[in-house]
Amino acid sequence: MRRLILADLHSNLEALNAVLKDAADQYDEIVCCGDVAGYGGSPNEVIEWSRANCKTIVRGNHDRACGKDGNLLDFNERAGAAVIWTRDSLKAANCEWLSALPPGPLVFDDYELAHGSPLDEDEYLIVSYDVAPLSGVIMRPVCFVGHTHVQSAWEWNRGGLRQLPVPRKERERVIELAPDRMYLINPGSVGQPRDHDPRAGYAIWDTAHRTLKLRRVEYDIKSAQERIRAAGLHPWLADRLAFGR
Ligand code: ZN
Repeated sequence: MRRLILADLHSNLEALNAVLKDAADQYDEIVCCGDVAGYGGSPNEVIEWSRANCKTIVRGNHDRACGKDGNLLDFNERAGAAVIWTRDSLKAANCEWLSALPPGPLVFDDYELAHGSPLDEDEYLIVSYDVAPLSGVIMRPVCFVGHTHVQSAWEWNRGGLRQLPVPRKERERVIELAPDRMYLINPGSVGQPRDHDPRAGYAIWDTAHRTLKLRRVEYDIKSAQERIRAAGLHPWLADRLAFGR
């Protein structure tokens, strides 16, 4: 089984299309760590693609906020304005689907899925100090999360926790997954990277070959920015895409 792992699409259709083109023919099913909606200018298009194509998907905090019972607690002014615009823009069926997304963690036979952390969908796992306490919480050898918009990978072995290298200037890093170790992987954000690399991030997990590829791909940032500006959203939401912040 080859799984395409996505996170934090954030209504960015141009980035999503670039990822799908780059990953074409390399996966059998699609898994999403949440935040399909929010920030970007193509909420209906990205939700409709996710509805049709994601095999498993967990709710993100922006999905929750943009849904029927959402609130703007913990959202700054720019993000909150984008939530309100998204809510007002959503077709009824897309709003229904978004509102019904399950909160994490979702635990499957061979992996686990959460938005922020298996303990809390709003928690940011940024440094090893955040990740280390999860060794007794994660129930499967591989756990995927999103939320930080920072592509990252951690490995537990008998010696403890170590952070693994991710792509910097290169397009790809391949991690060989050892059978006796445990992994926490953030595939990076498709639609709004914040690791100072504006390229869309994603991962491909090949369970038969025990490899995990972390990849980055350029996309049409200008068009994504134009949609954000045309929607009247805060200009910073467009500007930040060019910096990966
Ligand atoms: Zn997000």
